[in-house]
Amino acid sequence: MNTYLHIVIASGLRQVFTYLPASDQSPLPAIGCRVLVSFGRSQRVGLVVAHSDVCDLPTDKLKAVLETLDSTPLLPDPLWQLGNWAANYYQHPTGDALLHLLPVRLRQGHNNQLISRYWQRVDTSPELGRAPKQAQIWQQLQTLPEIFGEHLLASINLAAKDLKPLLEKGLIGLTQPPQLTPAANLQTQPLQLNDEQQAVYNRISKQSHQFACHLLQGITGSGKTEVYLQLIEHCLKQGQRALILVPEIGLTHQLLARLQQRFNNPLLALHSGLTDQQRLHAWQQSRLGQGDIILGTRSAIFTPIPNLGLIIVDEEHDQAFKQQEGFRYHARDVAIKRAYDANIPILLGSATPSLESLDNSRRQRYQLHKLNHRAGGASQQSYEIIDLRQQPVTAGISERLSKIMHQQLQAGHQVLLMLNRRGFAPSLQCQACGQTVTCPACDTSMTLHKFPARLHCHHCDHRQAISYSCSYCQASQMRPLGSGTERIEEELQRQFPAYPVHRIDRDTTRNKGSLTGMLEQIHQGQPCILIGTQMLAKGHHFPHVTAAVIVDADSSLFCSDFRAPERLAQLIIQTSGRAGRASLPGTAYIQTYQAEHPVITSLTQQGYNAFAELELQHRQASLLPPFAYMALFLVQARQEQAAYSLLTWLQQQISQPELAASTQALQHFGPMPATMPKRANQFRVQLQLQHPSRTHLQHLCRHLCWLLEQHPDSKKLRWSLDIDPQELG
Ligand code: ADP
Ligand code: ZN
Repeated sequence: MNTYLHIVIASGLRQVFTYLPASDQSPLPAIGCRVLVSFGRSQRVGLVVAHSDVCDLPTDKLKAVLETLDSTPLLPDPLWQLGNWAANYYQHPTGDALLHLLPVRLRQGHNNQLISRYWQRVDTSPELGRAPKQAQIWQQLQTLPEIFGEHLLASINLAAKDLKPLLEKGLIGLTQPPQLTPAANLQTQPLQLNDEQQAVYNRISKQSHQFACHLLQGITGSGKTEVYLQLIEHCLKQGQRALILVPEIGLTHQLLARLQQRFNNPLLALHSGLTDQQRLHAWQQSRLGQGDIILGTRSAIFTPIPNLGLIIVDEEHDQAFKQQEGFRYHARDVAIKRAYDANIPILLGSATPSLESLDNSRRQRYQLHKLNHRAGGASQQSYEIIDLRQQPVTAGISERLSKIMHQQLQAGHQVLLMLNRRGFAPSLQCQACGQTVTCPACDTSMTLHKFPARLHCHHCDHRQAISYSCSYCQASQMRPLGSGTERIEEELQRQFPAYPVHRIDRDTTRNKGSLTGMLEQIHQGQPCILIGTQMLAKGHHFPHVTAAVIVDADSSLFCSDFRAPERLAQLIIQTSGRAGRASLPGTAYIQTYQAEHPVITSLTQQGYNAFAELELQHRQASLLPPFAYMALFLVQARQEQAAYSLLTWLQQQISQPELAASTQALQHFGPMPATMPKRANQFRVQLQLQHPSRTHLQHLCRHLCWLLEQHPDSKKLRWSLDIDPQELG
């Protein structure tokens, strides 16, 4: 007889806890059900992970479960397995990981009763002659299917309360939502695919009933999205559902609009812009098969979807797919595992695939498909490198750039400038002693902002008034150092007074609608200048832009992160993809003091794949991913010494003889300060491990985690492990 319940909770601990069933006679909660338990002095939501009839602890030491919250498991079995796999692969405490799979409301113990109700017509021709209002409602209901939910009710301008009299008379009854089989239901006809698109479509759709990882590399505007839409249509025609992941909520809206334009099928969007309640609702609907197409950001990969037939990951190279805090999973990689388990195809799309994915396609693990031409007849852009060593530069704008901009604007075109630094200047420096103003909590430069005027730490959000004298030497010679988008905007307004300048960054788009307003003006097509951060480079179409400018390529070239060149190359290609999207040819301009840098020359002369080839050679020579696997232990502490001593101890454990098999080819670096050595008063120290074998590295990390958990200091300090890190601390 099973009398013990093994339960995980979101406690940050790797432990499984044992409880007794509730004292009443109710059936044992099944594996995957939520239970409420008392834990320490609080009550927590836990998940049952196992039943057993043996327990090492004396029964009188065990507590009973307080309440069973679900009568059936919340996650379908494949997703439960996927969650367990991800917890294990990313070596994250199972309780935290599994609860992370659920919408926030359910993690908090909210009940899983459907928020949206469904009704069924019971009577066929009721006698309602004496109740004209009810008769009218009854008439209206005839236009709906026999089973209808609140959304359909709303579509005929009725609400649940209007149905009350009919419900009381038993003419209609509450019921479960209908399980429908998807079928393609087109609102508009698909475009005629060009030969390249057709070839890709044919190859992928031919293999629609088995796992394969397809990598679609298509230049911006080559019609990748059209291929997605037609593959989704194919999937729906097979009676299956499709899941599309995008990196950002901004891109969700654009794709959502295109999906809605094409399909009449029910579509569910899951992203961070939803309230917890809306998210729960969408999750529940998806779980019941009420959505045929599910579109979402990172965490949508864990959405339950019955009869899933296709996964698409758009902009697969984007860092946003990696969760950088807490449960540090990579949604693209989890998506591949999900597709593998379900034996269905997965399509990764990008103009600039990650080096990992390109390498996987070289090794034939992924099937590579290419779209090399712009669909719809737009012409492709060219490059020009602006060598900053040979000319005057004013607030980040070179003489050459200024001349080009004058020409383009006078010809009636638009110009776009990309600078990944908001604010006026990245630091405020004393001209007398050279010191910059630093954040008291992070030790890094405070960014100078003019609108509103203040110093702002972009790492911990600390704000302070602008200092007019130096706190070290008291001289009153403070000067902004370097340029952010505000400063460029100011300079552009000075140089081009006749043209509007639109600044698009997090500061100018904070208010709802302000981005939409600016985009509307830009789309009217009058000559103007756009200056913005990465936000600009992603997804937006600017058909009137003929010149796209990378204002400062060098900040990435000298970054310590080994992925910086890859990110720069992707940013250059994405930004230049904004130019010349309609019939106007576009040019991308790159301002740099490093005009001969191989990253820049290979990219501009031979294209992204040549750059990627070169960069992969570097990575291979230095045994960096994808030629080795990486893991990063990070300890954060108020005392730097405490963080160091814990990681030094950990590093010493690596030489334990029982780990010899796993540590032979190991490289380890540290303990050393993280890229961001201090943030919000916490010192950040890391230990970086690299190994050519994933299995050995996994084994080693598992053992080290186990050791760390035993160490008394690990309870006092914050520590984490990042498997396949995308950022080095
Ligand atoms: P991507 O996703 O690769 O950036 P899109 O699918 O957005 O490309 O296509 C770019 C533009 O080309 C869009 O305006 C789209 O409507 C158009 N387009 C795509 N495929 C075709 C096609 N086969 N025929 C005509 N126009 C197309
Ligand atoms: Zn700070």
